[in-house]
Amino acid sequence: MRKLASIQKIKDIEPIEGADAIAKATVLGWQLVIRKDEFTIGDWCVYCEIDSILPDRPEFSSIRARSNRIKTIRLRGQISQGICLPISILPEGIAIEEDLDVTVVLGIEKYEPPIPANLAGVAKGNFPSFIPKTDETRVQVLQNILQRSAGTVCYVAEKLDGSSVTYFVKDGIFGVCSRNLELERDEENSMWQFAIENDLENKLLALNKNISLQGEIIGEGIQKNKYRLKGQTVYFFNVFDIDRYCYFSFGDVKSLLNALHLKLVPIVNEHYELDHDIDVLMNLSKLHSALNAETLAEGVVIRPLDEITDKYGMQGRLSFKVINPEFLIKYDE
Ligand code: ATP
Ligand code: MN
Repeated sequence: MRKLASIQKIKDIEPIEGADAIAKATVLGWQLVIRKDEFTIGDWCVYCEIDSILPDRPEFSSIRARSNRIKTIRLRGQISQGICLPISILPEGIAIEEDLDVTVVLGIEKYEPPIPANLAGVAKGNFPSFIPKTDETRVQVLQNILQRSAGTVCYVAEKLDGSSVTYFVKDGIFGVCSRNLELERDEENSMWQFAIENDLENKLLALNKNISLQGEIIGEGIQKNKYRLKGQTVYFFNVFDIDRYCYFSFGDVKSLLNALHLKLVPIVNEHYELDHDIDVLMNLSKLHSALNAETLAEGVVIRPLDEITDKYGMQGRLSFKVINPEFLIKYDE
């Protein structure tokens, strides 16, 4: 779960050219615009990430008047993500501790975009417990891990803005799942349609093992079809070995997808030595989509060429996303 609101220190404050009343603050790996007189470097604050929905209470009313959901904005040319509230906004009796999650005590909720009908499907059951759900941590909260992992040889994939889909075969049974549910077979459902059109059931059964493929379905009717595609298609980003409970390495993912005539997500860089500087990583995300040169990419997902597990809090693997702030502003996400 994302810590939407947490106790943090203001790491840095820098001037914004041509602006007297406001400044650029750094909190975790996030940059945001603050009022100059509000904080000084080293101050404690309650930092609320983008996608926070603030509760309807008087102490939040001035911020809610602008927007009740915290979004990425640009002020005087400066990208601003999240807000800093004074520590006094916390209820009494909370001991100040760096990184303490205060999302629940403040009553902050997460904005969740609605799911279109053609994707929702009919639930067959919960998401299978033998496959991890797809998810990616945001780079802005990973400074410590980046310090330890700098230099690791990674690949950089484009992050596609669609809907997560999981296909699997377990003990001879084929299944289709959306982000959080297993879906009943249904020819009206886009995820099932892709499976049927691509003969996925037989392709996976022929592998003779318990395996899962995970990808992003994009195209008409999905997330405003930003890539302007005809129809719908799936680009894959994970192959999971269910019996060994581990992901395939990048090389093995590529070979398997090739053999099955399935598409891999667009690859931006196949050999990238990981930098620890979040600003450098943010710049990697500012690109156009490989699927449509006129569309901004949503960002990138960075992973080691050989999976690195343990010691990471990210579903047990080193893998994270860097969302393009220009994309968030352009599409008001
Ligand atoms: P939050 O950051 O608020 O938790 P979220 O959980 O809804 O957001 P997304 O921003 O959608 O997550 O990012 C994670 C999702 O990105 C994955 O579940 C996956 O469906 C999708 N995705 C798209 N392209 C890729 C890619 N190249 N590699 C991995 N995941 C990808
Ligand atoms: Mn998530």
